[in-house]
Order: sequence, then C-alpha cells, then structure tokens
Amino acid sequence: MNASTSRQPRRGGRSESEPPPGAFNPAAIRADFPLLETTAHGKPLVYLDNAATSQKPQAVLAALVRYYSNLNANIHRGIYQLSAAATAAYENAREKAAQFIHAPSAREIVFVRGSTEAINLAAASWGQGHVHAGDEIILSEMEHHSNIVPWQLLARRTGARLRVLPITDAGELRLDELENLFTPRTRLLAITHISNALGTVNPIREIVSQAHARGVPVLVDGAQSAPHIPVNVRDIDCDFFVFSGHKICGPTGIGALWARREILDAMEPYQGGGDMISSVTFEKSTWNETPYKFEAGTPNIAGAIGLGVAIDYLTGIGMDQIERYERELLAYAREKLSAIDSLRIIGTAKDRAAVISFVMDGVHPHDIGAIVDGEGVAIRTGHHCCQPVMDHFHIPATARMSLAFYNNRQDIDRLAAAIEKVKEVFV
Ligand code: PLP
Repeated sequence: MNASTSRQPRRGGRSESEPPPGAFNPAAIRADFPLLETTAHGKPLVYLDNAATSQKPQAVLAALVRYYSNLNANIHRGIYQLSAAATAAYENAREKAAQFIHAPSAREIVFVRGSTEAINLAAASWGQGHVHAGDEIILSEMEHHSNIVPWQLLARRTGARLRVLPITDAGELRLDELENLFTPRTRLLAITHISNALGTVNPIREIVSQAHARGVPVLVDGAQSAPHIPVNVRDIDCDFFVFSGHKICGPTGIGALWARREILDAMEPYQGGGDMISSVTFEKSTWNETPYKFEAGTPNIAGAIGLGVAIDYLTGIGMDQIERYERELLAYAREKLSAIDSLRIIGTAKDRAAVISFVMDGVHPHDIGAIVDGEGVAIRTGHHCCQPVMDHFHIPATARMSLAFYNNRQDIDRLAAAIEKVKEVFV
C-alpha cells in the first residue's frame, strides 16, 4: 500500500473519529509498517529509536522484492533491455532524491552509502583540493562523530586545524561566537541541521549567510533534518548537503551527497574503479562526468530504487504534514516526560525536533534502556556518536527517545509507563 492510499480509510465508511480523506491519518500510516506490528519481550513493540534508523513501509519492501524479481541487472553498461530498465530506474531514483531536497539538478546527486560516506567523500575529495597546512575548518560542539572524524583525518593529513563552535547548556549553538571563529584561513564550515543527541534545530539559513559573507562554503549534515522537515537546499543556500536513506524510510546502504555542480565538477574522484572513468590506459585515466565519477563500481542499485520509493511515500504524505504532526507529538512527549520527577531532559533548545534525551537521578542510562526494553519499548542509550555533547554536559550517556510520523500518543504513554518501572526499581 502506498502513502496516498494509506491515508484513506481501509474498508467501509469513515467513522466519526477518523480524519477526513486526504488528511494526515496516523492510524492508516502506521498500518503501512509491518515491523510496527511485531512484539518485543511478548509485548507490542513501541519503536522510539528513529534517529538511529527508521522503519520501512510496505511500499519500500515491495519495491526491493520487485527489483530483484523483475529488474535485476547491472546498470550503465548493458545494452540489453533489462540493463537499460535497471539503469532507468536507478537514474529515476536520482531525480527523486534531487526533488526531495529541491536540488537544481539530479546531476548534482551522488549516491553513497549514507551521510557518513558522503562527508568522507567531501573531506577526502574536496578537502584534498582546498585544505592545506594552516587552514581551518569550523565544526560545532554538537556534531555527530561522522561530521568530526572525517575532518580530523583531513586535518591530520594536511596540517589543517579544526575550530569548534561551542553550545550553551540549553543545547543551542553559541552563534555569538561564530564571528570570532572565522579567519582568513577558514576553508569550510561543516554543521548539522538538527542534532541527533539533543534535537536542536539550528538556524541554518542564518549560519550559511554568515559564512558566505566571509566567502566560506558550508556543508550541512542533513541526516536528522531530511526525515523530519521539508528540506530545500536552494533556500538554505548551502554548498554541500548530505542525508541517509535508511533514516527516511529507505533501505540501509544508500544515501546522497548533494553539492553545487561547479564544486563537484572541480573535485577529484573519491574512489577509482569501473564506471567512474571515461578512458583508461596504463599511462593515464580520464574521468566520467559528475556525478558518475564519484560512483566507482557497482552501486547499491536496489537501495537507490528503494530510496526513490521511500521518497515517493514521504512526499505522498507531505513533509510539511509530517513536520506538523511530529511537532505536536514531541510537545506531548515533552510534557509527559517532564512530569516524571527524577528525570532530567538534556537539551532544552527553543527549536527542537523529534528527539528527547534524558537522564535519571541515580540510574545509568543503560539500565533505563534495559528496563524500558523489557516493557517492549525500544529507545537508544549511550553517547549517540556525540561524545563532545556528553562531555559538555559532564555525563557519559543519555537515554534518548526519537520519534517518527508513525508514532502516536499511545507510544509515548507506553514509554512514560515503562519509565515508572525504572523508578520502581531504582529510585
Ligand atoms: N549525522 C547525524 C546528525 C546523524 O544522526 C547520523 C546518524 O545517526 C549520521 C550523521 C551518520 O549517518 P549514517 O550512519 O547513516 O551514515
């Protein structure tokens, strides 16, 4: 079932409590996700680890089976009908990825494994041409390790250095400090759109415009924004944007790097191999056009096609509807969790999306996670690949619940009840 039909009542007439046709219908949407029908420890599963990965709708699962059943062939190289059809489906997915983030052209979309690989590609390839000894790259204290370590590797190779924009105790960027970090040696600002550890939504347009006023390009880590809010790279005006397919209801192992065409054209390839070349001799090879010069070897064809279907599914619902629904659900969750004494929310920024990180007096987050899991509720505990954030708050870890549009108030109630169990054991 796809998103547009899922929003309609399944059988018979509409009851009083059902949303009108065309309106956002969480119950019908939920029924599109088979995994949400499963159990954990004998209890109906409540899945609240969406920042780690999202569940997949039936339409995406069916697309993967359809691809391997009817369309499987290697792309770009075969002249036979099946290969041409697989190539068309793969390239159609590139168009969808471009439209999803309002990129000017599908030729600016490089398929990669996910946000991590996208940032590594930018750091290795763009970094190699633009970052030299003594140059500086600005990051923030709230970055995921994926937007820290690739730049560290580049800095180590080149002799560049990283500068860090600090955060406040509310988990907001210290934008008053940004101006002081720019120097004539600043080559790039790499920053997350939404924090996976705190839920903070950063004022990305303002940040990009400050950087551009200094002639500094900006890479936006969209791993956590693409699933939750409409993204428009033209409007953000960034230079690079990355996202992961598996966080937006697509398969694992597929994601995208978007960058402006002139930037990609000027970059050297990331990896060498088949498909990324235009000619090869032992003396010299020449490169294929953008974006193919960055896609060496057989890519994740099924993954890209599945991603395209996931994008159709999300846009069928409407990212603006998803954002609105999730904001309401987050407010409800915040109210519920704030009412639990001995629970402290980490990250109280004014603008937040989808995530609540918390700690409890005298209880290790892993114990919270284990007890809550026993109640059938899946949340994440740990440093969430954001050790600098944990250091800022002087804690080793948090428990984190993260929402998607298929969650509902009952899920939050189940979490709150499970946390009461934690209190019974520990507090
Ligand atoms: N950036 C942020 C903000 C994330 O939350 C994540 C994953 O959780 C990543 C980057 C890395 O994404 P992936 O593991 O899909 O490459």
